[in-house]
Amino acid sequence: MATPTVAEAPHEAEPVLSPSQSVLQSVLESAGRISLSSEVVDLLSTSWREVRAQLPVRMDDRKLKIFEGYRVQHNGARGPYKGGVRFHPKADLDEVRALAMLMTYKCALMDLPFGGAKGGVMCDPARMSETELNRLTRSYTQHIGMILGIARDIPAPDMGTNAQTMAWMMDAYGQKYGYTPGIVTGKPVELGGSYGRDQATGRGVATCMREYAAFEKSSPTDIRIAIQGYGNVGSWTARIATSMGFKVVAVGDVKGAIHNPEGLDVAAIDRWFGVAGSVAGFHGATPITNEQLLEIDCDYLVPAALGEVITGANARAVKARVVVEAANHPVTPPGDRILAERGIVVLPDVLMNAGGVTVSYFEWTQNIQQFRWSLERVNGELETRMVSVFRDVMERATRDSTRPRQAAFDLAVERVGRAITLRGFV
Ligand code: NAD
Repeated sequence: MATPTVAEAPHEAEPVLSPSQSVLQSVLESAGRISLSSEVVDLLSTSWREVRAQLPVRMDDRKLKIFEGYRVQHNGARGPYKGGVRFHPKADLDEVRALAMLMTYKCALMDLPFGGAKGGVMCDPARMSETELNRLTRSYTQHIGMILGIARDIPAPDMGTNAQTMAWMMDAYGQKYGYTPGIVTGKPVELGGSYGRDQATGRGVATCMREYAAFEKSSPTDIRIAIQGYGNVGSWTARIATSMGFKVVAVGDVKGAIHNPEGLDVAAIDRWFGVAGSVAGFHGATPITNEQLLEIDCDYLVPAALGEVITGANARAVKARVVVEAANHPVTPPGDRILAERGIVVLPDVLMNAGGVTVSYFEWTQNIQQFRWSLERVNGELETRMVSVFRDVMERATRDSTRPRQAAFDLAVERVGRAITLRGFV
């Protein structure tokens, strides 16, 4: 994805940064607050390794199509690289680099023994058959296999990929290197996946929303939420938040969005989705656009789809008082500043969507031990970690008079910097 020029983005009040520049900006600001050495800053400013691979795939019509895939390993001072694989038309190298950086800090914030990585293939999975996706996944795994490893780099699902994709990756890797279930997380339970991994990111989002409601001394039953994205993260957030008492008033996916100020019946939406493959067209709600969803009257707005959806162009129109970053990097730096000026609290991605990598960590440990945990144990351990880190971030923000994103980055960058120093890199 080419970096848009300032001229192309007349609403952005400041120069437009690429996704990786935006993430780096948070890190540089943090480095200033915590007085990180300039050598550590230099190390964290670029990736440790970036692989770009040509992925030739024979399509169902027998034509050869060449895709482009990436694996970026940002920093491994705290442990093996960890991060999802995204299949999306906009999954270019800079976006993957930005997401790899975010993983370094997310794992550190959650105190998981991992570094940060991310993978991506520029493709549109919605327009590909299952056999084409299978072949593409195998081609990708073969091309990046030499930098993966159970103690080296462990992929997981992200946008456009799922448990089936991980099963194909595990199989393709195993054909070359032998049976290695711990090479990926987010696998089907039948192949060594963990109970609770599919719902983990949404459960983490909902748990932190419940904690934030308690922090601001309100009750979930008084809080209306709107969710952009009804895939893995958005749909599980809707289900679990509903079970906690939150009122879901709007949801949307790539085909459209729906709104009911009285509250949506999430179980009925799931049944509709099973038939229609989208929330769009659901009866008992008013159709709206995804742009309108971001500006809908609600208390907590939960972007759970793409990055960079709240920008300098639309942040003034956001009516929610809290933005919950369930997606990665959904708010650009100019958007973030406008939200801050307007007193809108942003709960940051490195914390809010960290439930997924946390249960991926549980899955990895279960694979190494060849021992399966119960769903109750997985959910219980996730709850304990999410609540504890959420409170650490809010305490740090209160102590330093910073915003939650700044507090989360300060905690995470400090830990990564300490690991780099202890290893003797600088
Ligand atoms: P997914 O592919 O399961 O779902 C994505 C959803 O976004 C779908 O409902 C899709 O229709 C919708 N969408 C796509 N383009 C859209 C558009 N232009 N407008 C509105 N909706 C659109 O992906 P996911 O795994 O749920 O990931 C969503 C976000 O959460 C991503 O930013 C991802 O990086 C982040 N995340 C995911 C996990 C995880 O465990 N899956 C963990 C951490 C962070």
